[in-house]
Formats: sequence, C-alpha cells, structure tokens
Amino acid sequence: MTQRHPTEQRYTMTDVPENSQPVQMLDFARQFAGIRKEILEAIENVCDSQRFILGPQVESFEKAAARACGVPHGVGCASGTDALWLAMAAANIGPGDAVITTPFSFFATVSAILRCGAQPLLADIDPATFNLSADAVEGVLRTHTRSKVKAVMPVHLYGQCADWDAFTALKQRHGLLLIEDAAQAFGATWDGIYAGALGDLAAFSFYPTKNLSAFGDAGLLTTPLAEFDDHARVLRAHGMRQRYYHEEVGWNSRLDSLQAAILEVKLRYLPEWNQQRRDHAARYDELFRVAGLVASSTAEGIVLPITDPRAGHVFHQYVIRAPGRDALRQYLTERKIGSEIYYPVPLHLQTSLASLGYKAGDFPASEAAAVEVLALPMYPELRDDEQQTVVDAIASFYK
Ligand SMILES: *Cc1c(COP(=O)(O)O)cnc(C)c1O
Repeated sequence: MTQRHPTEQRYTMTDVPENSQPVQMLDFARQFAGIRKEILEAIENVCDSQRFILGPQVESFEKAAARACGVPHGVGCASGTDALWLAMAAANIGPGDAVITTPFSFFATVSAILRCGAQPLLADIDPATFNLSADAVEGVLRTHTRSKVKAVMPVHLYGQCADWDAFTALKQRHGLLLIEDAAQAFGATWDGIYAGALGDLAAFSFYPTKNLSAFGDAGLLTTPLAEFDDHARVLRAHGMRQRYYHEEVGWNSRLDSLQAAILEVKLRYLPEWNQQRRDHAARYDELFRVAGLVASSTAEGIVLPITDPRAGHVFHQYVIRAPGRDALRQYLTERKIGSEIYYPVPLHLQTSLASLGYKAGDFPASEAAAVEVLALPMYPELRDDEQQTVVDAIASFYK
C-alpha cells in the first residue's frame, strides 16, 4: 500500500463509485425510532408531575446508574464537565494542588482542573491504547513536588478503560486519589469491574453523542465513598444543605428531571447497544483485514484499534491510525462518508492553555496520535452495508 501525500491528490468527483451511499457518523433518529413510545411516556410523566429539578426521577436514575456501574453512590449533575469539577471539588482539590492527566483528551479534562483552582500536570499516552500511561505519570511524580499532586485523572478514551492495574499500583505507591474521566465509557469494564467503580471518584457525560445520551446536557458523578457523595450533593446545589443556609460556596449544577427520566429509559438498553458497538468494531476489523489494509504501523498501512485483554471496550469511537489521514478524510467527505478527528490538537498545544508552559515535542505519543487518528462511523444502529461502504471507500483511496 502506498501512502498518498496530501499534495498528490489526483482524484475528482467522477471517481465516486456509482453505488456509493452516504454514511453518517451518527444517526440519532434510528435509536429514537425504536424507543419513541417509552421516551415520550417518560417525558409525559415528568410533565404531569410538574417537578423539573432534582425530582423523584433524578433520584431514581442516580440509583439505577450507580447500580449499573456496581458502585454505591451516584450524583446527577448538569454535564460531564461539571461532573469532573464536582469530583475534584468533592475531594477538596483546589488552589495549591496539582492533578496529573493526559493531553490527548477533550478540553474539559484539563479545564475542569483549572476551574477547581488546581494546576494540571500532563503526562503522555500509551500509543497502543491512546490512554494515559502510568509510567509517564511516574515520570511526572519524580520531577514535581510530590506533596502538591493530589490526584491522577486517567481518561477512558474512546470507551476503553485506562490500565487500572498500573494506576492501582501507582495509587498504592504514592497515596494519590484516582479520578476517572469516564465520559466516553459508560458500561466499559477493566478486569470485570465497571468504569465508575474503579476510582475514588468518576465522572460521566450524557452529552447527546455519548453511549448513554440525554436530550441535552447531563452528567453523573459516581463514588464508593459516602463522604464524597454527600459533599458533591451539597456542592451541586449552591453549597446548601438546609434551604438558604450556605455552608460553603458551591454552584448550580443540578440535573433536570426530564433528562433523568429519558436516561433511565435508555439505561435499560445500554448493554445491548454497547454489544452492538463491539460487534461493529469486530466487523470493521474483519473488513479491513479482508481488504488487506492492516499493518502494525502507519508506514505500511492502517493500524486498527488495540483492545487490552483486560478491558471490556464499549467503542464510543472506532479509531484507526491512517497514513495520509487528512487526505483520506477529505476523500471520505467528498463521498459523503462521515469521519471525525478526536482530537486534532493535543491539549498542551491549545492556545488557551499556553500558560501551562508546555511546548511542541513535550508529549510525542500524543502529538503523533493527533496527526494520525481517524474515527469512523460508529453507533449501535449502523448497518453492515454502511460499514462495507466505509471500508470500500478507504480501500479505493489507498489503491
Ligand atoms: C464529553 C467529554 C467531557 C465533557 O462532557 P460534557 O457533558 O460535554 O460536559 C469530558 N471529558 C471527555 C473525555 C469527554 O469525552
């Protein structure tokens, strides 16, 4: 397989195969069609109750979601970003403290640390899984004042849990809190334990594109510790336990009853939906192999997603490494085939985070990933013929 350089593109729209059909990155309508009646009933119940904020539906969803993760406590909140903030604030992380995380994630992973008043310290990823490397975190702990570092926040990127054996060992050696950014990983497991039950605290997002998704913004914090659960509940409601008596400065990060009611319906389908995602991932793997496109490095071909044998992956995204990634993406776009780049700019190179003091070259594995990753259409209702169309188009690009 030869790698096309972006400047060597020779194809035109006349190259588009006659039978090519558009394939969307995501199609929410297909999911809604299957559960429409139940969702509308759940919405109707909330409307009839006229209790829109932290009502019985929120309590019910918090319990159901925590149970699904096998963790004692769940606290609903306004977004995944807020769940990250709440997790750290509940653990009293603030000014003077530092939290170590990955530069290869969504922006909120780092911005939530800043919002707590703490300092984000970054460590590079494991290039195989794209997740924060515990070895790289060790390296940061060696070079920084250990006393400042309160927590490590691995991200379960694309729906695969970070190496929790390594992070548990790190916690035992250094006595740090482990906070999961599980925004992309509801239903994922490590060694049979669910995301959300692995760390001292975990944050989930129910943004509409996530595996478990609301009809708007919503989030959840989970924790095994009653003390963190209690503190998070106070913080999400203006630091108020008794009405209008504010024991500390919290915020408004309440969860709407409508979102909770919708989420509780969808939660029942999630194991099935996550299994469909895994099946699609296996099918993509197979189609790429049959097409002869697969290699162990982008010097020779496409690199398929690598799943650690201890991880129960939920394929929030199916992400390949692709030679000539940007030209490939343009080729797919011209054929109306969806794809996305998560994420094109590592966080240490974001202009708004320049004050963190990092520079290009600091995290080579993250920087290489940012140039090569491409997420392909992935959602439970994706059809076999659509996957075939995606792989055929990629094969024709590299031909
Ligand atoms: C989506 C996401 C968030 C933020 O969640 P919101 O609900 O959009 O605020 C945080 N971290 C990661 C890794 C995410 O994917």
